Amino acid sequence: TEEVLSKVEKLAIVGELAAGVAHEIRNPLTSIKGFIQLFQQGMIKREFFEIIFGEFLSIEEILKEFINLAKPQEIQVEKLNLKALLKDVEILLKSEQSLKNVQISQEYKQELPEIMCDRYQIKQVFVHIIRNSIEAIPDRGYVKIQGSVEGDNVLIEIIDNGVGMSKERIKRLGEPFYSNKEKGTGLGLMLCFRIVQQHNGTIRVKSKENYGTAVEVRLPIKCTNKKEYNVD
Ligand code: ADP
Repeated sequence: TEEVLSKVEKLAIVGELAAGVAHEIRNPLTSIKGFIQLFQQGMIKREFFEIIFGEFLSIEEILKEFINLAKPQEIQVEKLNLKALLKDVEILLKSEQSLKNVQISQEYKQELPEIMCDRYQIKQVFVHIIRNSIEAIPDRGYVKIQGSVEGDNVLIEIIDNGVGMSKERIKRLGEPFYSNKEKGTGLGLMLCFRIVQQHNGTIRVKSKENYGTAVEVRLPIKCTNKKEYNVD
């Protein structure tokens, strides 16, 4: 289903996002301000610098994701081997994976055809979804990546045995700033949904609390580049 947004609606969304960003940035800023006040009082401790640095990183992260959302890039399609891309993503997430004792495996029911998509954006989608799976595992667990062909689409499933989600939580996925993580921005999945939608694909999430989550990403083999909305 294609959503047609009026100018007023678009502006409302941008306003809501901007308000959210302001709110999200206020927390780390308040904390940085507090530490500077401590410095003024002569309390200078090494670990304070690390905390401040961490707060700057959070601000940077929020801004990066916001810029991605607010200024959507036109998708640049090219032929892509998804299996190779998912191997790259796995390598990229190696440190996070081993810190958590998470086993990542990849299994393909058949050879996947090359698909037409934007390599950079689709990589972002899988990095984000797989990272969410790793983060959902408290300690020790698995993330299975399965690929198959389903009609005109390639189906990639990312299955984890992490904490899972209640029905209420699943419903809120993709909502801006909806996050249950201490350092989460709640913008990641919103961006993933948008990128996949731009490719005329779909993301479906199945999950059960204390059991695990399966995220199904369907991408058309032949992508028909969809025009996306711009605020003008
Ligand atoms: P963030 O990762 O910044 O919190 P997301 O939009 O990626 O933002 O995710 C929103 C929330 O959805 C997460 O905070 C988490 O609670 C939940 N979530 C996402 N993926 C999973 C998963 N695989 N298992 C359990 N919960 C998940």
